[in-house]
Amino acid sequence: MIVHHHKISAIRTNLLDWFSVNARDLPWRRTRDPYAIWVSEIMLQQTQVKTVIPFWERWLRELPTIEAAANASSDQLHKLWEGLGYYTRVRNFQKAAQVIVQQHGGKFPERFEEVLALPGIGRYTAGAICSIAFNQPTAILDGNVVRVLTRVFGIAENPKDKETNARLWELATELVLGASGFAAIRGDKARLAHSESESRTRTRTRTKGENDACSRLNQSLMELGALVCTPRNPQCLLCPVQHLCVAFRDGRVDVLPNLGERAPATARRFAAFVVERDGKFLVRQRPAGVVNAHLWEFPNVEVGASPGRPPGDSLGAVGRSTLLRVTAPSSRAVSDAAKGLLGFAAQNLSPLVTVKHSITRYRITLEAFTVNLGRTHVAPDGAVWKTPAQMQQLAFTSAHRKILRAIERAKT
Ligand code: SF4
Repeated sequence: MIVHHHKISAIRTNLLDWFSVNARDLPWRRTRDPYAIWVSEIMLQQTQVKTVIPFWERWLRELPTIEAAANASSDQLHKLWEGLGYYTRVRNFQKAAQVIVQQHGGKFPERFEEVLALPGIGRYTAGAICSIAFNQPTAILDGNVVRVLTRVFGIAENPKDKETNARLWELATELVLGASGFAAIRGDKARLAHSESESRTRTRTRTKGENDACSRLNQSLMELGALVCTPRNPQCLLCPVQHLCVAFRDGRVDVLPNLGERAPATARRFAAFVVERDGKFLVRQRPAGVVNAHLWEFPNVEVGASPGRPPGDSLGAVGRSTLLRVTAPSSRAVSDAAKGLLGFAAQNLSPLVTVKHSITRYRITLEAFTVNLGRTHVAPDGAVWKTPAQMQQLAFTSAHRKILRAIERAKT
């Protein structure tokens, strides 16, 4: 037990020292405003730091307060999130903002249980916000932290197993609990480097000498996982806890964490139809309750999947564990799909662009075709005609945004 405590203490000290020198200068690290930190934590779920930065900056410019987020229109929210994916996050964010306005007078709650009770905020996010914004000793455990802890402690069991997961939470808790007694670390180069930009931030900022060791301990764990203890080719020779790491000592870095078998990817193929009439295009908004709900897209339908999947099955609703061999549909099949979807025989169907992308474990091929429907056509149910300028104001799914760009390119 004494050895264990010594090891925890040594990891903590080494991580804090390393973070003081190596922390990246990220915009949400220049503030302790819980709202700004909350926005960053939600955006960073499933999304890389460099992608998030411009989204985070734009969000805070356009919705600088919790009240603004609570009162924003659905269109504005989705537009601000357009390109980040996993749109349930932004809808839950607004619900949580509304709860904060109604139940907490618009002030972000400081008690962990109240934060955890907000829509879209789980144990990890509540721990991250409470530690980073309020310097509370609340643990965090995300993919980065799981990787660091399983390697440092040589944990061979699958971290998703209930007992192993509980053990990892305990380790993360022990680490941050001890940090709450730390005085501010001297020689904090990262903070000094940020001092100029900190003075410009509109929110409450760290003051010199303020104890923020819980905040920095948790961030150092995430940062080590992001920069050094990476999934592939970790930089063990640069690692501040290498001398404490069981996986490094035993040559098991490559096999930890033990994440078990991954479900194989599933290929799916869709055809989308770009229909133009008098300078306007036919688009529709995805309904509530499906993947990418409320976002805009060109009319499209699933084609060419193996038997057993009904055409138009909403993405993600059906589980598959095998890689389907999806072959390119014949022009006849595409033409039939267009007729079924749009209600009119399509003439002069011609390929516009092919977009490949992934959603969770689906590897999707989306082929867009321009379609001539003649002049008698009325919009099918749920679809509307929009000009290119109007479409720019709407939030499209990433794949359909690429179709939009292909249309613009074709016109220039
Ligand atoms: Fe990760 Fe290597 Fe450091 Fe161990 S020594 S924590 S495996 S980077």
